[in-house]
Amino acid sequence: MAVKITDICIACGSCIDECPVEAIVDDSDNPKGEDIYYVYPDKCVECVGHNDQPACASACPTDGCIVWDAPVDGQPSRSEISADMRNGSTPVVQ
Ligand code: SF4
Ligand code: SF4
Repeated sequence: MAVKITDICIACGSCIDECPVEAIVDDSDNPKGEDIYYVYPDKCVECVGHNDQPACASACPTDGCIVWDAPVDGQPSRSEISADMRNGSTPVVQ
């Protein structure tokens, strides 16, 4: 993974158009069949080279909805985010 959308997502749609690499799909295209938006980890670049912080999380109105997760090998990731923060429960925007 890279950043991950959690189950408190309200499917508002604010994040999807902010992603510079079209890594986000809406609830109707969620490959896990969940009623939330989804980030494809093999597409997400954590906005490296695009934004100072992940644009999806900046746009999201739901506190703590988007969290850090482990990046996929070969994908850009933010070196300042430590491995222990990539535990699937640390919000990208605090
Ligand atoms: S962190 Fe950036 S690249 Fe990754 S899903 Fe969010 S907006 Fe897209
Ligand atoms: S902006 Fe946040 S709450 Fe809205 S669809 Fe995206 S992840 Fe879900």
